[in-house]
Amino acid sequence: MTQAKIRRAIESGVPDNKKYLHPLLVKNYGDWKYHDRPRPGVLHHVAHGGDEVWSVRAGTQRQMDIHTIRKLCDIADTFAEGRVRFTIRSNIEFMVSDEKKVAPLIAELESSGFPVGGTGNSVTMIAHTQGWLHCDIPGTDASGVVKSLMDELYEEFRREEMPNRVHISTSCCEINCGGQADLAIIVQHTKPPKINHDLVANVCERPTVVARCPVAAIRPAMVNGKPSLEIDEAKCMCCGACYPPCPPMQINDPEYSKLAIWVGGKNSNARGKPTFMKMVASGLPNNPPRWTEVAEVVKNILHTYKEDARPWERMADWIDRIGWPQFFEKTGLPFTKYLIDDWRGSRNNLNASTHIRF
Ligand code: SF4
Ligand code: SF4
Repeated sequence: MTQAKIRRAIESGVPDNKKYLHPLLVKNYGDWKYHDRPRPGVLHHVAHGGDEVWSVRAGTQRQMDIHTIRKLCDIADTFAEGRVRFTIRSNIEFMVSDEKKVAPLIAELESSGFPVGGTGNSVTMIAHTQGWLHCDIPGTDASGVVKSLMDELYEEFRREEMPNRVHISTSCCEINCGGQADLAIIVQHTKPPKINHDLVANVCERPTVVARCPVAAIRPAMVNGKPSLEIDEAKCMCCGACYPPCPPMQINDPEYSKLAIWVGGKNSNARGKPTFMKMVASGLPNNPPRWTEVAEVVKNILHTYKEDARPWERMADWIDRIGWPQFFEKTGLPFTKYLIDDWRGSRNNLNASTHIRF
């Protein structure tokens, strides 16, 4: 009888994380009795067997240089037990098995510039997309927007004073790989791409570019005797998806690429269905390095939500209760017919999701 072939490791797919985990997390994997939060930024897990683990969560700037990573590793070796993990929102967590180590670890992190917080009803770290570092389409630097916004929301990260958790995301193009969030900052191109016809034939694979457009607005054309492309501007929704396979179709523009703010999205099923975000402010200047106009609107919405929402209402629950007219009245944001999804086909739109049915 032939033995079953041993499955070999392959270079793709999710690696086995157990060898990187804190030994107590491996030992008690799936066997926790309860967990609580002794203070903002600290999670405390108790296992059925009596083991206890404290996880101290700190904010990072996400895109880190080697010196910062070494600094964090040194803190893990000296003040924790040599293990760290990153959360999906780029917070870093240090695990310790002795409560006495928690206070010195927090003191070291905070004195090194890494705020401790981001748990429970705080404004946790902003999830952001790749930005200029890894993606080929960005209209802005998502990580720059994150850094400047988190500077403004620093105290809200360290405290748990919001009605419920607040998840913020930023996306550097309209494809929005930042996903759904209570509040999202998303690039908004307001003009179709400008085509440099001299370069298209040499740089772009035209059928690929034509296929890439989600609304079939691109077609092949001859321009000045050269094969090129043309855009049906009435159809184009300025998404920017044609730019990566064809850089001569430039859509980023210092004047016409703006930022928009969306609110009320969430992914979880807790207390209510997942929801899609709705646009509530548009045409804000894409204004580095501090994005002050965006920060003002974000702080205004968060402040109004904090003051007006009932305990445990997420942003979407709060807006559902008070209604959109009240949302615009309380925040003072100007309403236009281009905001919120009032398209009559939006029901079909939303039902395209596997999670949302109504
Ligand atoms: S939001 Fe757009 S530009 Fe930014 S990383 Fe995602 S796909 Fe790339
Ligand atoms: S920006 Fe988007 S909608 Fe407009 S032509 Fe390019 S791919 Fe099509």
